[in-house]
Amino acid sequence: MKELKRVHTLDELIAENKRLRRMLLTDELTGVYNFRHLVKQIDIEVEESKRSNAPLSVIMADIDHFKKTNDDHGHVVGNTILKQFSNVLSKSVRSHDIVCRFGGEEFVIILPNTAMNVASEIAERTRLAVEKGIYGNYKASVIMTCSFGVTDLQSIDEDTLIRDNPSDYSSKLLQKADHNLYQAKAAGRNQVFSD
Ligand code: GH3
Ligand code: MG
Ligand code: MG
Repeated sequence: MKELKRVHTLDELIAENKRLRRMLLTDELTGVYNFRHLVKQIDIEVEESKRSNAPLSVIMADIDHFKKTNDDHGHVVGNTILKQFSNVLSKSVRSHDIVCRFGGEEFVIILPNTAMNVASEIAERTRLAVEKGIYGNYKASVIMTCSFGVTDLQSIDEDTLIRDNPSDYSSKLLQKADHNLYQAKAAGRNQVFSD
């Protein structure tokens, strides 16, 4: 028997296109943007910031001792914590800030039009929200804190760049945020470190 070909309406195609785009750019577990979107968007924001001379900050956040949380409570609880953690991040920032999962239990927030001191305040507010925690049934047994590294485009020493294109600035931004995150970890965790 001949198969009938289904004709899609324009609205259906637009909705399907939206669904595929969302799938491509978001992290399946947490629903925030994924690494693919991060690397694309950070270049766009660097270009925009350089064009308009507006500040641009980046926050890198990493859950403290998350391996132990998994070991003590299991991977499924770990996954729930990750989802709740990403919710706290999304709620702590403004609507134009871009929350991305960098990988594992590490997240990057891009803050357009934001100077480093303001980004540090946002990170500190987020740190407190995480520390207070709203972790459903796990609240009683799971203690969760997070460390933050903050930096901005304006503090990049251009002499340290190999070339002068947006990707070099983006890499440097992430490198510096990661370095500051490492300092926060080394200083005892559950704190914000900026340049
Ligand atoms: P630190 O305070 O230095 O950041 O210590 P840590 O234990 O958080 O860091 P480490 O890099 O040693 O371990 C990260 C852990 O995160 C190990 C890994 O199993 C866990 N993890 C990464 N991705 C996921 C995930 O998608 N789900 C769950 N449940 N765990 C994950
Ligand atoms: Mg960690
Ligand atoms: Mg980590």
